[in-house]
Amino acid sequence: MSTKRITDLPLPSLPPEEQARHDYLCGIVDNQLSGFIAMADALAEIQESRSYRYEANSFSSFCFQRFKVSRAHAYRLITAGTIKKSPVGDQITNEGQARALAQVPEADREQILEMASAAGPVTAASIESAHATIVENASQTLPDRTSKPILAPEIDSEGFEIPEGSLPYWHRRSHIKELMQTVSDVKRDVKAAFEGKEWVGTLSNYQSCMTALSNAHNCLKFCMPYTVCTSCNGVRPQKCTHCRGAGMLSEQMWKITPPEELKAFRAKNLKAKVV
Ligand SMILES: [Zn+2]
Repeated sequence: MSTKRITDLPLPSLPPEEQARHDYLCGIVDNQLSGFIAMADALAEIQESRSYRYEANSFSSFCFQRFKVSRAHAYRLITAGTIKKSPVGDQITNEGQARALAQVPEADREQILEMASAAGPVTAASIESAHATIVENASQTLPDRTSKPILAPEIDSEGFEIPEGSLPYWHRRSHIKELMQTVSDVKRDVKAAFEGKEWVGTLSNYQSCMTALSNAHNCLKFCMPYTVCTSCNGVRPQKCTHCRGAGMLSEQMWKITPPEELKAFRAKNLKAKVV
């Protein structure tokens, strides 16, 4: 006796009122999938031309008043549109994929898409997973001591070689920079809103808001790798109380924490190595 699989059975018809609603919902999804690049381009032009100023005092206020979306979401859409127009854009079919791909180095995008598609449908999650695999593989690759290295070692801002185990943290520099830029943009928009008397009811909070944003910017600056940690030298930093596991020091930390003698000692060693 043959058994019919569920996929062989004829599909039921939806009642007309449910069918209409179903078609309407599918239309929304279709429009989002095919239309996000047009939406991203439009937002980018409004932001670049500053035409939003005819409706609001800042891009942030405009996005919220006109479209009920945050400024951050608008920028995410703009970034997604940029990825869609890049060389890998024809492999991108939705905004989530583009946003995930925007977070990875441009040089790795092709390979990441190949890895993601080999594992199944390409989704934001599979792109993130492929990126994590590449970063992990890079950190576990031991240098080949039998032959000359093909790639030049990465060097920090003081000329020291960054240990491979620390590289994943160093590779987050662009993300930290992006976050710092976001805070700066928010600060600029708040200032513009204040000067345009847009938030009259909250004028008394303006200064504390600006101070909080400056502090946030400064905190992020402390996370930005500048030089290899002077205590653990970036090797097995997990237990290092100086860099707290990061294997690096920010520029501010480098300026204030290591004793001058230690800095001089490292510089001397570096000079000897170069000679
Ligand atoms: Zn350390």
